[in-house]
Amino acid sequence: MKRLTILGSTGSIGTSTLDIVAAHPGRFKVEALTAGTNLDLFARQIREFSPRLAVVLNESLAAELREMLPAAGRPEIMSGVEGLVAAATLSETEMVVAAIVGAAGLVPTAAAIKAGKDVALANKETLVTAGHLFMELVERHGVKLYPVDSEHSAVFQSIEGHRSVDIARIILTASGGPFLNTPAEKLQRVTVADALNHPNWSMGKKITIDSATMMNKGLEVIEAKWLFDVPADKVAVNIHPQSIIHSMVEYVDGCVMAQLGTPDMKAPIAYALSYPERVTTGIKPLDLTECSGLTFFKPDVGRFPCLGLAYRALADGESMPAVMNAANEIAVEAFLQGRIGFTGIAGLIEKVMDSHCPHDLGSIADVLEADCWSRAKTREFLSS
Ligand code: NAD
Ligand code: MG
Repeated sequence: MKRLTILGSTGSIGTSTLDIVAAHPGRFKVEALTAGTNLDLFARQIREFSPRLAVVLNESLAAELREMLPAAGRPEIMSGVEGLVAAATLSETEMVVAAIVGAAGLVPTAAAIKAGKDVALANKETLVTAGHLFMELVERHGVKLYPVDSEHSAVFQSIEGHRSVDIARIILTASGGPFLNTPAEKLQRVTVADALNHPNWSMGKKITIDSATMMNKGLEVIEAKWLFDVPADKVAVNIHPQSIIHSMVEYVDGCVMAQLGTPDMKAPIAYALSYPERVTTGIKPLDLTECSGLTFFKPDVGRFPCLGLAYRALADGESMPAVMNAANEIAVEAFLQGRIGFTGIAGLIEKVMDSHCPHDLGSIADVLEADCWSRAKTREFLSS
């Protein structure tokens, strides 16, 4: 029985994780759940999975949640960062599923590692903003870090049994998102609804917009660099609109290992939870005879400048990836609120990066400071 804390249980990754837990009741036990503001769903999850600790965004939501649940059998209810850290470090928990979106995932994920918990990592912003610090923490505390992101799970599965010195390239695949074939002049006028209409994956709003701008792939290049300890020039991106190959590893002898499957996040989540074993997921088996041709081509960084910005952030290093990530979070939020157009997202991030002088990040506190600086700068540009 593996005992779990799920950070962000009401999100897209969180609910898929709970689907897997529900399908394997003898195998996983939920000890703690955390959510932001969706109390109706959260209360249903608490009734179904009976965690000992439940955490929401703030104290007024916590009070509301207490009212919604019968006193008998009610879990301890906490709130805020203190609650997230308590859930991440709970003594009963063996593995923490880090599925909060954005930089808010940093502090609880670091706390989990320091408390010796294995981590199933969905929150890619953690490695983007503080990759060197997190990989150092993982090493120092002897915990396991399992990727949940489908591309990184594919790479993880494609390097098993191989020596890392033999890796020539990691090739991340990208669907290209809803605007893969949209001409540059039309990108300026696409709507929020167009951008949220992802062709292959059903995900939370922020990552769906990141997929449309291809910042998601940029964040994943940075994530891959840290997870697999390879330089940026060894991480390539191929557009593969069918999302059947989830990523590949090319070796020095020219052989390429790939992982394939029906696109469904339950597969990488289940592998992270059950590694090295495999459990059923209910995903439709892949029948390649039903796939009408798999295609691959190079990304167009002219139309999708966010991908280039991510490579630039990686090359600049130090605080730049954290600054880019925070600027992206604010820019995506502004796009979702209708304050800027789609192409304005990359423009805004670039302006913030141009005005930043990268510096060393020695601690999580330094990362949060760079994150804060970038948010303030981005808001300043937004309102001017
Ligand atoms: P989502 O928006 O659907 O869910 C996010 C969860 O985090 C929710 O439970 C929400 O309540 C909680 N949350 C949000 N802000 C919070 C805050 N400030 N404090 C505490 N809790 C907060 O997001 P998602 O699509 O499930 O993505 C989660 C993470 O996984 C992201 O980092 C994303 O990049 C990554 N990821 C997602 C997918 C996917 O298919 N959805 C795939 C790969 C990686
Ligand atoms: Mg991904």
